[in-house]
Amino acid sequence: KGIQAGIVWFNGQFVPQEEARVSVLAHALHYGSSVFEGVRAYRTERGPAVFRLKEHTERLIHSAHILRMPVPYAFEEINEAILEVIRRNGYEECYIRPLVFRGGQSLGVNPLPCPVEAMVAAWYWGAYLGEEAIEQGAKLVTSSWIRSPGNVMPTKSKAGGNYVNSSLAKADAVSAGFDEALLLDAQGYVAEGSGENIFFVRHGVLHVIAHSVTLTGITRDTILHIARDMNLEVRTVMATRDELYTADEVFMTGTAAEVTPISSIDFRAIGKGTAGEITKEIRARYLEIVTGKNPRYDHWLTYVR
Ligand code: PMP
Repeated sequence: KGIQAGIVWFNGQFVPQEEARVSVLAHALHYGSSVFEGVRAYRTERGPAVFRLKEHTERLIHSAHILRMPVPYAFEEINEAILEVIRRNGYEECYIRPLVFRGGQSLGVNPLPCPVEAMVAAWYWGAYLGEEAIEQGAKLVTSSWIRSPGNVMPTKSKAGGNYVNSSLAKADAVSAGFDEALLLDAQGYVAEGSGENIFFVRHGVLHVIAHSVTLTGITRDTILHIARDMNLEVRTVMATRDELYTADEVFMTGTAAEVTPISSIDFRAIGKGTAGEITKEIRARYLEIVTGKNPRYDHWLTYVR
């Protein structure tokens, strides 16, 4: 039946998902001229709360700015649309997908004449890489597709078109029996997963992949705060794939994937070949923060009710 998103916000109105219709001649459908976000709301003692709402909305607006797409709604209106979609559907927890895109007007490649439309939908979405990956670790394979260089695609925009690259890598990885793809950059350095940033641990030091052609992950930033709380030494590095092969632990981060341990890369076991201890500790702290159990980070939660 596909995704059941209930009531969605579409161009300023709250309507049932089936009534939110888009032209088959929408520019975004033909040329990928859209920007989106992936946000999560978690069940807390004070009802559902959206995690880092402002940062996600800000990145959405920045993504649109990079594509020269004027967003027809203000920052506060988008935040409110997200909260109201959760309220109207009565969700206790959900994944939220705001989208801004170029609609139908003319089908020249030039996007500028096309109207800008906007949508927010939300639905229940569990462990992105599967429950098993959380216990046992996910299996990665280095993709033959590289992450687009910054002079090919806007790497800091969460643009729909960029995800042709991600979905090519993901489909090949899954077809080959792996859980997720590891994309390198044009120089052969580790970039990111198809929808996650990458960290590794060696001798107790947390290594985070430097931002180059990667998306500026909001979860990545949250993990850096957690590392500080744990008094972990953190190094921001460029890494080759074989540096990951010999790491003690590797994990991926993303709003959808949260903190997912990696058990193997290209058939090489990582550490003991299961979820690492530091990874598990970081994951536990992450889940505490997003569910409102760490008062220090309460300012990152927007309570829905
Ligand atoms: N990289 C890519 C390519 C992604 O799609 C995502 C998911 N948005 C991430 C990294 C992680 O970003 P975040 O932690 O903000 O969800």
